[in-house]
Amino acid sequence: MSLLTREMACQELIELVTAYFDGSLSRRDRRRFRAHIRGCDHCTTYIEQMRLVIQATGRLTEQDIGAEAREELLAAFRGWSEGQPEG
Ligand SMILES: [Zn+2]
Repeated sequence: MSLLTREMACQELIELVTAYFDGSLSRRDRRRFRAHIRGCDHCTTYIEQMRLVIQATGRLTEQDIGAEAREELLAAFRGWSEGQPEG
């Protein structure tokens, strides 16, 4: 476990997804966001789904994501990361 690499967690990414798409993320967070997506198939899929929502609706709001869908994703992420070696 390293405290030096402050990698963005899947949960954090999901929290920031609306800010990412509406452009209100800081440059630093945006970089971390993209770096995370590059290394995470789950989040790549998630972002693609969000893109489709935006294409369909023209915008993305917390309501579009939906609390239930978010919980499901987080649960899936948790189950996935538990099977991964740390670090
Ligand atoms: Zn992820």
